[in-house]
Amino acid sequence: MPQDCIFCQIAQGNVAADVIYQDDEVTAFHDAHPQAPTHILIIPNRHIRTLKATGEEDIPLLGKLLAVARDLAEEAGVAQSGYRLVLNTDEQSGQTVFHLHLHLLGGRRMGWPPG
Ligand code: 5GP
Ligand code: ZN
Repeated sequence: MPQDCIFCQIAQGNVAADVIYQDDEVTAFHDAHPQAPTHILIIPNRHIRTLKATGEEDIPLLGKLLAVARDLAEEAGVAQSGYRLVLNTDEQSGQTVFHLHLHLLGGRRMGWPPG
């Protein structure tokens, strides 16, 4: 768990964030630079660099990230209108924080294709 990883630090409570959900496997918090009225990040507590670094043993964890996103979308009130989940993976996707995270975006109409 790299000490220079900002998301590890948030998961451990060493760096402040607006945490809205945490259990022994995942943490969710509001994005510091929201791109939509609702913009929540859901991360594994364990440091995983990108989706490419996951394996068969991580399938339950990956499913959990989706399930937590689904439940938080309900709580945030964006489920009925709809929302987008984004998982940027490595450089060309625009990934800037190299600790696996799922974006939950909602509260406005999304464009397609994404930029
Ligand atoms: P990426 O571009 O890697 O998919 O997304 C990284 C996201 O993390 C960005 O939306 C950025 O605003 C958010 N972010 C980066 N550093 C922090 C931080 O220290 N706190 C919070 N809450 N969000 C952060
Ligand atoms: Zn990390």
